[in-house]
Amino acid sequence: MELIELDGSTGEGGGQILRTSLALSMCTGRPMAIQRIRAKRPKPGLMRQHLTCVQAAVAVCGGAVEGAELGSQTLVFEPGPVRAGDYAFNVGTAGSCTLVLQTVLPALMLCAESSRVSLSGGTHNPMAPPFHFLERSFAPLLRRLGVGLDLELRRMGFYPAGGGEVSAVVHPATAGLQPFDLTDRGPVQDAYAECFAPALPSAVAVRELAALARALGWSGEQLRTPAVRQNEGPGNALLATIAYAHVSEVVTVFGEKGVSAEQVAGALVKEVRVFQASEGALGQHLADQWMLPLALAVVERGGAASFTCTELTGHATTNIGVIEKFLPVRFDVDLTETHPRVRVMAANL
Ligand code: ATP
Repeated sequence: MELIELDGSTGEGGGQILRTSLALSMCTGRPMAIQRIRAKRPKPGLMRQHLTCVQAAVAVCGGAVEGAELGSQTLVFEPGPVRAGDYAFNVGTAGSCTLVLQTVLPALMLCAESSRVSLSGGTHNPMAPPFHFLERSFAPLLRRLGVGLDLELRRMGFYPAGGGEVSAVVHPATAGLQPFDLTDRGPVQDAYAECFAPALPSAVAVRELAALARALGWSGEQLRTPAVRQNEGPGNALLATIAYAHVSEVVTVFGEKGVSAEQVAGALVKEVRVFQASEGALGQHLADQWMLPLALAVVERGGAASFTCTELTGHATTNIGVIEKFLPVRFDVDLTETHPRVRVMAANL
């Protein structure tokens, strides 16, 4: 099969091009070569998290790889047949383990059998899907597509200590993938905030939740401080979950040294308000992550499927470019309304 050549400096120019292309190379069996990996990042090339993604891809399909080294800015990958099974991937640092799952999930969901994937590393990282986002926002959409993704958070992992553990069971769509349109959220069904702050003084959670509640007008019943173990920290993630009838959004911000609890809450409130003010069905992160599974479903079934979103980020447009290189689909992006509308259609339409 013809080699697909990618330039890692295009578009967003970060790790997303690598992960999306690895995922699609496995799904299609098409070999790939990528140059200038993460060229737009201060430390270009493969970092631990990206290298673990490459190693995970090789483990899942037994392919041949060149350039799988820390710091490498080129990679050639020739995938073998994808095998369902029991896998364990350890990032080895606090790098996001959910992004490793993002790499292997599309291939595993197309297998005939279920797979179990144990992941370790960071579970709640800035610039990556936090565990709770995958569980509440992403997995329910996959389920509607026909794919079961059962997730368990065994241990939280924050930067810089890492050590988080996630277990994922992937059940492929036995009746085939079912693409669907997602253009409105439906009515609000629930909204709540949670503060995870292992190994930090309990006042951190109290102050963050109080500031958030004041600003959003949320009641005490909407505020939660889930149990955490001291050895899961130190770390601080403040989450707002808003469940609508058709989709749920999980907005996450992270506390840092030198940033007050009120500032952390303020950052979350700002993001929640942006999301609430838009009529786009998907938040910006869900939008970029939803494109790949939806495109695979459209390839399998033919036809087209649409979604609306609050914003089309550089990650999303970069993903569109990579997906169109691998799959016989076209994306049509309509920016004439107040929120972007994205349609993915089989190339022959
Ligand atoms: P780099 O860009 O440094 O190579 P990276 O490989 O770690 O970094 P990105 O390329 O930034 O990661 O990709 C991040 C992914 O994580 C995207 O799919 C993005 O939507 C997702 N993501 C980032 N923040 C959130 C969040 N708060 N909630 C859900 N998903 C998120």
